[in-house]
Amino acid sequence: MSSIAENIAAIRTRIRKAALEAGRDPSLARLVAVSKTQPAGNIRAALEAGQRLFGENRVQEAQARWQELRAEHPGLRLHLIGPLQTNKAKEAVALFDCIETLDRARLAEALAREMEKQGRRVPCLIQVNTGEEPQKAGVLPADLAALLAHARGQCGLEVGGLMCIPPADEPPALHFAFLAKLARAHGLADLSMGMSADYERAAALGATYVRVGTALFGDRPAA
Ligand SMILES: *Cc1c(COP(=O)(O)O)cnc(C)c1O
Repeated sequence: MSSIAENIAAIRTRIRKAALEAGRDPSLARLVAVSKTQPAGNIRAALEAGQRLFGENRVQEAQARWQELRAEHPGLRLHLIGPLQTNKAKEAVALFDCIETLDRARLAEALAREMEKQGRRVPCLIQVNTGEEPQKAGVLPADLAALLAHARGQCGLEVGGLMCIPPADEPPALHFAFLAKLARAHGLADLSMGMSADYERAAALGATYVRVGTALFGDRPAA
């Protein structure tokens, strides 16, 4: 087994254990392999290990590397986990199976237009800036209800849940619990939260997607 295959197996075991210990159905906590900036060989190793769900944070980088791989691997699913500019909505809708970073009305409108044009419905998650950090993407918690109503109502988007990236210097569990509470309040099923350092915590607190890069692939080469 490659070390990547071993890492995937170990991470899956940990996610499962964390979910079970928290009394959750472990099949609901899915591993998103964050492949941004990873060399092609690493991605191939993950595919060979059976991993089919991947996260990328840049539209162009993802396009360049996944267009071909996608044709070779039916069942592959790609999530966009980085900020999306409205002028890349077209490419994003064509490539991704889930856009986790919807965070403003204009983007919801651009995505809806593209989905209509392309005849392709891509489910979205709303990214919430739970730490209310000025430099961070995501809708402020106080504005979530309005964005959700706009995205679903006027735009007709399929919004299945919420995503967050907690502040680096705060206990992530507080933010995971907060995101879970927001999702419950709005009747949303999906929660994308948890990265290499804290995915077990997230799985225990209700994550349906954990996004793991470094712990799976090793350190990232610079972009
Ligand atoms: C890079 C990235 C991750 C993965 O981070 P690791 O710490 O390497 O696991 C998860 N989520 C988002 C949004 C990212 O950009």
